[in-house]
Amino acid sequence: MTAHIEEASAQDLENAWMQEAILLATTSVANGGGPFGALVAKDGQVVATGNNRVTSTLDPVAHAEVTALRNACQELNTFSLEGCTLITSCEPCPMCLTSSLWARVDRLVFAADRHDAAIADFDDRRFYELFEKKPSSMWPMTIDRLDLPNRNAPFEAWLAKTDRVAY
Ligand SMILES: [Zn+2]
Repeated sequence: MTAHIEEASAQDLENAWMQEAILLATTSVANGGGPFGALVAKDGQVVATGNNRVTSTLDPVAHAEVTALRNACQELNTFSLEGCTLITSCEPCPMCLTSSLWARVDRLVFAADRHDAAIADFDDRRFYELFEKKPSSMWPMTIDRLDLPNRNAPFEAWLAKTDRVAY
């Protein structure tokens, strides 16, 4: 019985967080940002929030999720968000999805999806399709490899550093 009540209140909390993310996203539009909002929560508390700031800060990677992850790391003074949940108003683009993996968040929750974003003229779905369906030769960006003999020097330096901080 108690577990059931706790489950219900956890769901209520998550719904409230998602409402906050949606409000952040909507407010972002009025403030000159993109229509995306996100927050990071840990142990039942909101740690940090973020909204899309691509055009307002001339930063193409200032997506809501990346902004929230950065703010949460500063707030918690760590580069690992293990134990955290990322709540985002829209399904993360491939960059934000990977950023969440790098940040080691435990869980990700989204509301709108890539198809909703596509209707609003955003490229999330298009980029997923590049990864999932198109060889890189068909991408709108050329990718080349320049294979130099010392290409592994940075990794050798890293592995030789005994006090390295793994991440
Ligand atoms: Zn993104």
